[in-house]
Amino acid sequence: MLNQINKIRHGFQEIIDMHKLINREITEVWNMLDKNKYKYVTIDVIEQIFGKYEYKEIAGGRVHIIDNWRNENIKFLKIGTTEVWINRLIFPQTAYVFAKIYAENLENELDLKGGGGFVARHQLWNPAYPLSCHAYGCAIDFNPEKFPYGSDLKPHPRVIEIFQEGGFYWGGDFSRTKDNMHFQFAYFII
Ligand SMILES: [Zn+2]
Repeated sequence: MLNQINKIRHGFQEIIDMHKLINREITEVWNMLDKNKYKYVTIDVIEQIFGKYEYKEIAGGRVHIIDNWRNENIKFLKIGTTEVWINRLIFPQTAYVFAKIYAENLENELDLKGGGGFVARHQLWNPAYPLSCHAYGCAIDFNPEKFPYGSDLKPHPRVIEIFQEGGFYWGGDFSRTKDNMHFQFAYFII
């Protein structure tokens, strides 16, 4: 993957260094994962990989993280004009996905308006449900106005493919209500 990143863009040294740093960590959990791009990882496995944190409930299905987990794990990624907060363990592969989308001149498809990555909240903003993948910085939503929850409107097919190749599961493949704006961690790119 790193060579591919280098081919796409220069100036990715920081990301390459980060990938080296986390490679052992992500290799250790590699066998827990299905590595099938059409599968998704349940939230308890997400928790095992990305860590549990202490929180208290706040309004609107959000949670407030009490311990230091957020500071230690959530990082700011900026590629071109695309900015997102995500988990450090998927930082390199997300950078790869974004860079590849730019390289194919599809950056207009990377519109995160009203969406984004890390949000400490429950699934569907409903406290009756478990924490969301977003609460671990392991999911990214694109422009919810353009791709509303449950609608048939989809991101560009190449964007979906690039995310799948980059280790993400697409919410349009859920057997329950489709969530076409949503991409979440499926496997690591080592
Ligand atoms: Zn989402």
